[in-house]
Amino acid sequence: MPNKKLNMSEIYIYNTLSHKKEVFKPLKDKKVLLYTCGPTVYWFAHIGNLRSYIFSDVLTRVFRYNGYKVKHVMNITDVDDKTIKGTIKEYGKKAEKEELRKFARKYIKAFKEDIGKLNFQKELTFVRATSVVKDIKDAVRKLIKKNFAYIKEGSAYFDIRKYNQKFNDYGMLAGKDFLKGLKLGKVISVDEYQKENIGDFVLWKKFKKGEDANIFWADPVLGKGRPGWHIECSVISMKYLGESLDIHNGGVDLIFPHHSNEIAQSQALSNKVPFVRYWLHAEHMLINNEKMAKSKNNFYTLRDIEKKFNPLAYRYLCLGSHYRSKMNFSWESLESGQNALKNLYQKTLELKRSSKAKRIGPRAKHYKDQFTKLINEDLNTPKALGEVWKMLDDRNISDKEKYALLIDFDKVLGLSLDKVKKEKIPTEVLKLVKQREKFRKQKEWKKSDQVRQEIQDKGFQIEDTKKGPEIRPL
Ligand SMILES: [Zn+2]
Repeated sequence: MPNKKLNMSEIYIYNTLSHKKEVFKPLKDKKVLLYTCGPTVYWFAHIGNLRSYIFSDVLTRVFRYNGYKVKHVMNITDVDDKTIKGTIKEYGKKAEKEELRKFARKYIKAFKEDIGKLNFQKELTFVRATSVVKDIKDAVRKLIKKNFAYIKEGSAYFDIRKYNQKFNDYGMLAGKDFLKGLKLGKVISVDEYQKENIGDFVLWKKFKKGEDANIFWADPVLGKGRPGWHIECSVISMKYLGESLDIHNGGVDLIFPHHSNEIAQSQALSNKVPFVRYWLHAEHMLINNEKMAKSKNNFYTLRDIEKKFNPLAYRYLCLGSHYRSKMNFSWESLESGQNALKNLYQKTLELKRSSKAKRIGPRAKHYKDQFTKLINEDLNTPKALGEVWKMLDDRNISDKEKYALLIDFDKVLGLSLDKVKKEKIPTEVLKLVKQREKFRKQKEWKKSDQVRQEIQDKGFQIEDTKKGPEIRPL
């Protein structure tokens, strides 16, 4: 079999739409128009969601590393069944839109803090659903006018049959056979539903007294109500990125119904097929091989991780498994992730002494090529990380080159290697080190070991080198 060599400058990504790995070709120039489904802000994001967002950050970094300009937009769902419920719980049954926005603000702030700690790239545009309600109303009215939607008992629904008469691709993202054997059922008014319940989904949800507090938007055609979840993403992505996008991504659980509905709404609105050229989906994260759920008491947020770990240790752990495979989280695995990251920081510090190389030699270039090839091969971060360690162990490249490569690779990894600083050793620890040296000179081994233990208890370890004892944090 001929060995098909990958073209270095090409980026391969797995497209859910074609079920194949494809070469990425941008719509325009060297630009990527990228949309990511963002958080529903009724609570803190759990670490499984954060894994999926880390993957979108790595995706933008891979493209930027390859010289692309990336325009990245993410919605924030601040109006849906869950956020309304949360607002009522906090502000009572008379709560209005302002309270809903206030309720969501807290969790938006928390989400931005989380992704800051996980070292996401700053060039990310957030759009709150409640800030585009006018555009959503316009879109729903347009769908009704075009006969792709109808009003029933005060709510507006998307008409799947009408849509399929023209486009005949509803649910294709979920697979060719998706619609086979499934009967279109009754209309669906909730935002999230299973594929067993396939049916016309809600675009504009009628205001219900008693259920929705005083949260509603008025419209002469649609009446009092609020946007459904699916239409929000079609409207935001098209408003900020245009009618056709390069990439849309999210977790696998969004393939149906959310992303399938997005395709239908957007294509019905714009008449442009395909709405998105590459759909990328990240797999689930499991906790001790179980699905994460609040009821199972295994629902963790970054706040839980931070109590004992560096948030970037979680990022390192995520990089260690491919985004399209299920990742099993355990505290033990996070601990090893943290240890590996600490080692990487230590190595970076040691190499930093020798400053960066201005130019790298052929051997170092080989590592850069290898690293690029791996990340361009559908974001193979686990293997790319392996390559980083291989490079660090290679005696045939200089420390200067190693440091230059590390900082370069970190543009993709995002582990803040350029900010690693030597940790200050407390004076009490330095005193103990001196004391231990004294004991060692006097050959008082037992006493010197006792002091070593004391130093360890304070969180530092000693290594005796030719140049004398070296102290580093545990
Ligand atoms: Zn979405």
